[in-house]
Amino acid sequence: MRGLMQDYPLTLQHIFWRIEKLFARKEIVTRREDGVHRYTYGDCAARVKRLANVLTGLGIGPGDRIGTLAWNNYRHLELYYAVPCMGAVLHTLNLRLFPEQLAFVINDAEDKVLFVDQTILPILNRIAGQIPHVEKIIVLSDGGDLPPHNLGDLLDYEALLADAGKEFAWPVLDERDAAAMCYTSGTTGNPKGVVYSHRSQFLHAMAGLQRDTLGLSETDTILPVVPMFHVNSWGIPYGAGMAGAKLLFPDRWMGDGAALLELAREEDATLLAGVPTVWIGLLRQIEQTGIALPTVHTIVGGGSAVPPALIEGMDRHDLRVVHAWGMTETSPIGTVARPRTWHSAEQAEVMRRTQGPPVPGVELRIADIDSGAELPWDGVAFGEVQVRGPWIISAYYHDADPGKLTDDGWFRTGDVATMTPDGYMSIVDRTKDVIKSGGEWISSVELENAIMAHPKVLEATVIALPHPKWQERPVAFVVPAPEHRDQVTQQEILDFLADKVARWWLPDEVRFIAELPKTSVGKFDKKVLRAEAAPIGGE
Ligand code: ADP
Repeated sequence: MRGLMQDYPLTLQHIFWRIEKLFARKEIVTRREDGVHRYTYGDCAARVKRLANVLTGLGIGPGDRIGTLAWNNYRHLELYYAVPCMGAVLHTLNLRLFPEQLAFVINDAEDKVLFVDQTILPILNRIAGQIPHVEKIIVLSDGGDLPPHNLGDLLDYEALLADAGKEFAWPVLDERDAAAMCYTSGTTGNPKGVVYSHRSQFLHAMAGLQRDTLGLSETDTILPVVPMFHVNSWGIPYGAGMAGAKLLFPDRWMGDGAALLELAREEDATLLAGVPTVWIGLLRQIEQTGIALPTVHTIVGGGSAVPPALIEGMDRHDLRVVHAWGMTETSPIGTVARPRTWHSAEQAEVMRRTQGPPVPGVELRIADIDSGAELPWDGVAFGEVQVRGPWIISAYYHDADPGKLTDDGWFRTGDVATMTPDGYMSIVDRTKDVIKSGGEWISSVELENAIMAHPKVLEATVIALPHPKWQERPVAFVVPAPEHRDQVTQQEILDFLADKVARWWLPDEVRFIAELPKTSVGKFDKKVLRAEAAPIGGE
């Protein structure tokens, strides 16, 4: 017997319907050079329809790829709606990629049209002449002269919108059609294309609205500091639209702690989301200025492990960090660390420092790194995390690497974790970062967290370096807090670790540096450190 419910397509057009019909009065605020730009979802929806007409006028049809090179701002949000809702594919470009990688992803996706923030034009200009499929480049500009470039004739976004028709008849879409693409940041080899469907984006947005996940609500004012150019800003633009939450966009001030603090405070933000390095910066700002954020109830931290010291630092200011895990290939929400009713207060504190249990819609298991056998959830055994669900990748674009899926169809994440009996995941490492010393594994993440708890340490990362006897040994790279520069010693760090990790885990060397290299999305870049590090004992 078949169910008799409607086969209603799960597409982003539904979220657009909500912002237009239900939340037209709600605000979207974007930081600008001279204050803020402020308008409503209603204004946004009207411009989205004009934009859909512009795209049609440019000859864009179903399945065409539209690249965006833009910060988190209201124009980028308009593209987030217009492009997929008219049947084309939104390809968000990571503006921090190396030029050759940027050209590679634009060419691999065969982007026909690019939309570029005026301030980012110089980045695009570096690959002028290398992107043959691009027919038109449209500049998102607040006015003023364009920087010099060799990109040929450029079109102006605002001029195109002003001339476009006001009404647009949205086509009927298949929920399994592509809505968006995002390439991985290419920590190994060339970036790989992940293609999201309307259905996956819809379900992923719904998942973000649940109270035990991110809990996005109409009552929220959300500041996403995760780039809209990488992993869809963790799905927040659509989640906020579906819920009707007020949105705050930092534009190009994403790495500026003072600007973030000001925007969050002036607009009474309630929920912030970003990678730990952003929150390390914000916490310093809060401590230096004494400015509080009393309206913020949640800071979602993820993208790399949230150091417990950061959670504790934020706790001191009544700011609650909620730890989440995911990746480009998982849309990204996979797990969110909210404690359960059965946890004691003490257990709850432990659990919120883990990456948490899988959210509704995602199934997860761990498998032995060598044999692939499924491992028990005993809090001790660790293995590769494998996931499945309606917003988990089934294949990369142009690169259906079968090795990334298990024979029974689960996605192999490349992360290594333990699971508690009640399903809380603790990431031990990535398969490529875990340190193998004398045949035993050392977790670089655990060492980093322990070092970052030292009061004189701002940031730390640990990598494996080759060792003649042990095969690999851990070496720590530490950035001292500015006020303790030149005052902290290797011995001090090792003494501090002595009662926190096993003796044989202690780093062979602690090297102090002014700054840690970061990846294009703000994570510590171990690949660069590994490539540049002097051998153990060689300094
Ligand atoms: P990239 O692989 O390009 O860094 P992603 O942004 O997709 O791109 O990163 C996903 C990876 O980031 C995960 O596989 C995992 O290793 C790491 N990660 C994400 N969230 C967490 C977290 N909360 N704790 C530890 N690692 C995390």
